[in-house]
Amino acid sequence: MQPHIASERLITTLRNKGITDERVFEAFRKVPRHLFVNSPMAYEDTALPIGQGQTISQPYIVALMTELLNLNEKDLKILEIGTGSGFQTAILAQFSRRVYTIERHRELGEQSRLRLRGMGYENVIFKVGDGTCGWPQWSPFDRIIVTAGAPVTPDTLAEQLAVGGTMVIPAGDRTVQDLTVYKKTETGLESRTACKVVFVPLIGQHGWND
Ligand code: SAM
Repeated sequence: MQPHIASERLITTLRNKGITDERVFEAFRKVPRHLFVNSPMAYEDTALPIGQGQTISQPYIVALMTELLNLNEKDLKILEIGTGSGFQTAILAQFSRRVYTIERHRELGEQSRLRLRGMGYENVIFKVGDGTCGWPQWSPFDRIIVTAGAPVTPDTLAEQLAVGGTMVIPAGDRTVQDLTVYKKTETGLESRTACKVVFVPLIGQHGWND
C-alpha cells in the first residue's frame, strides 16, 4: 500500500478512537512514519521496536499527547523528554518555534538528529543526557512532554514549565501509568488524568533506577 494511503487509513483509525484535532491529523500527514521505523507495520496503530530495548510510541498515543498539549499558538517553546525515533519530535516541530528534545541513549539521539536534519527540520535542538533534569538553560518551556513512564512527576520539570504552560507525562508504576496533564497557573499546578497508558520507564536521577 502507498504510504499516503496507509497514512490516511491510520488517521481514520485515530479519528475513530476519539482524536478530533484536525491540526494533529495535518501534522501526521506531513510526517511519514515509515521514515522513522523500518517495519511493514509502520502505519499500524501500534508501538514498534527501534533498538536499545526502546519503542516508537503507538500513533494513537502520539496523537493524544499532542492534542492534550493544546498547541494553540505558533510561537511555542517545547521540551520533549525521550526523543526515541524522533517521530513525536517531528510532529511537535510542526507546531512550535523550537523543540528541545533529550534522549538518554546516544545511538537513538544521534540517529534521530541525523534523520530530522536530513528531512529539513531546523527548529529542533537535540541533546543526549538525562531528561529528568530538564534543560534549565532554555527554561521556562511553554509545553513539556515526557514520552517515558515516570514513578512520579519530577519537580525539576514542573519548575521548568512556564506559567500558563502545559505538561503531559505518564506517571505511575513500571507496568501502567496515568497519563497526567498539568497546567501551571500563578498559584501552582493543576492536574488531571487523561487515561491509563503503558510506557517504557523513564530512567534517571528523578526517574527510575537503571
Ligand atoms: N516518542 C518516541 C517516538 O515516537 O519514537 C518514543 C519514545 S520511547 C517510548 C521513550 C524514550 O525515552 C526511549 O527512547 C528512552 O531511551 C527515553 N528515555 C528514558 N529515560 C530517559 C531520560 N531520563 N532522559 C531522556 N530520555 C529517556
